[in-house]
Amino acid sequence: ARQARAAAPAGPGRLADGTPVPLLANLGSADGAIAAIGAGAEGVGLFRTEFLFLDAATAPSVTMQQEQYTRLLGAFPGRKVVVRVLDAGADKPLAFLTDAEEENPALGRRGLRALRAKETILREQLTALAAADAASDTDLWVMAPMVSTVEEARYFTALAHELGIRTAGVMVEVPSAALLADRMLSVTDFASIGTNDLTQYTLAADRLLGSVAGFQDPWNPAVLRLVSEVGAAGRSTGKPVGICGEAAADPLLAVVLVGLGATSLSMSPSALADVRESLARFTLDDAKTLAEAALAAESATEAHTAAKSLAADLQ
Ligand code: PEP
Ligand code: MG
Repeated sequence: ARQARAAAPAGPGRLADGTPVPLLANLGSADGAIAAIGAGAEGVGLFRTEFLFLDAATAPSVTMQQEQYTRLLGAFPGRKVVVRVLDAGADKPLAFLTDAEEENPALGRRGLRALRAKETILREQLTALAAADAASDTDLWVMAPMVSTVEEARYFTALAHELGIRTAGVMVEVPSAALLADRMLSVTDFASIGTNDLTQYTLAADRLLGSVAGFQDPWNPAVLRLVSEVGAAGRSTGKPVGICGEAAADPLLAVVLVGLGATSLSMSPSALADVRESLARFTLDDAKTLAEAALAAESATEAHTAAKSLAADLQ
């Protein structure tokens, strides 16, 4: 029942046994929407709002934000769009939001921590998003970056709901969030795993530093074990678990991530076709078998090699 490699399947993401795996796009501006839909994106799994305001000296007004979000949602009628509130700090400082004087900004007040310190900015962003949502027929989900405690998940979800967001979730980018995923998911609506930061924080290696780039490999079984925790929590709570880091763009790793419990995958639009084709070659049982093999390895290289040779056997 597996499709030949050459027959690139069109339409929504599916495993060979028909299990749907929605394939979504990572976007940083509404301009990429048409290309994303052309590449077969079923919606947006990560809209990085901080990219809209990298040059802004002052916080953007609610009206100005509402215009931007209305444009984005208008490009995806009837589809799901996951917007992330501002992820400022570390490699993406925003003049109006982040502290310039941190020695270790990746471990400082970034993401939700920065927003919470200036809650008006968070409230205004959620208000603008809710207004844009009310005027559209898009299925808007909103999530917070760099969540590291259950209390933060509870805080963000309650505030988003209070301001009119129907579906509010958290990114899992820090090992503590993955380890407590069951509790995180019991207080929020969904989780989305950011494998770029999850790998950086699990291996304690700066994701932008060339001299430690060898550590930044999401095939590392330590990272996969954390993903599997979140997948298990998704199953036990019945809540969706997406992946929106670069790992989802690796066609074989994408299958492994589904085997670990991911229910949707989001990536750069250019990666969608290859991932769609790869998913169509494996059943859910195959994906679980591949995931087991990768989890049992002791290194990223070993996990990748084991999955590759097993995948060849399964074809
Ligand atoms: C991630 O960390 O994997 C992620 C998707 O967020 P960003 O790359 O924007 O930090
Ligand atoms: Mg991140």
